[in-house]
Amino acid sequence: MTPPPTHHAIAIDGPAASGKSTLARELARRLGLVMVNSGAMYRAVTWAAINRGIDPADAPAVVRMLDSLEITCGSDGSSSTILIDGRHPGDEALRAEAVNSAVSTVAAIPEVRERLVALQRDYLARTSVVMEGRDIGSVVFPDTPFKIYVTADEAVRAKRRRAMGEIDSVSTRDAADSKRKTAPLVVAPGAAVLDNSAHTIESGVQAAIDILKQQGWNQPVEP
Ligand code: C5P
Repeated sequence: MTPPPTHHAIAIDGPAASGKSTLARELARRLGLVMVNSGAMYRAVTWAAINRGIDPADAPAVVRMLDSLEITCGSDGSSSTILIDGRHPGDEALRAEAVNSAVSTVAAIPEVRERLVALQRDYLARTSVVMEGRDIGSVVFPDTPFKIYVTADEAVRAKRRRAMGEIDSVSTRDAADSKRKTAPLVVAPGAAVLDNSAHTIESGVQAAIDILKQQGWNQPVEP
């Protein structure tokens, strides 16, 4: 019997607007892995609730909605994709103010997390991934040796969000994500902390690659 392929998971966690998406995307390119944005999954469920007129704070109603929601996670070869009932919500919709302000509430619901964590783990059966989120190193892939927690000063993060033209109370979201009972934002055991405040994209990616090598990464790295 052919042994199953060895797939690797690189976990990138950190608060909102720390630059972890950009870092994860570029890392995935350099390492030849698929970049999975787990935040988009929580955003998509939040978007679905809002679209169906469900109050995101009404957890039982959100859980009932989940039962009838078809969530299809895939990849375009380099990044993750998500369809809700066969349709892509669109990046603009996923980053709308209404979603920004409700997503942490929806993400605190244990049943939502259980469903999405299973979909996140499914990726690893198919491919190697760089997955970014809040609980990837602590909950989704606790056994991976490759874990980075990305931080940046609050002022740097707020500026980054403003530059993207988004209305988003980053500090409120971080507080909710850090205080929730299920899978709060934490530095996972074994994670290296990368302070991204003063890095350029290139120097941040290089710092991440250096960390991964220390953590045992010995696969090819593209220039
Ligand atoms: O990464 P992004 O800022 O798009 O994530 C949006 C929200 O989704 C976070 O503020 C958090 O509430 C939730 N999230 C989570 N766990 C993850 C990824 C995102 O709870 N692994």
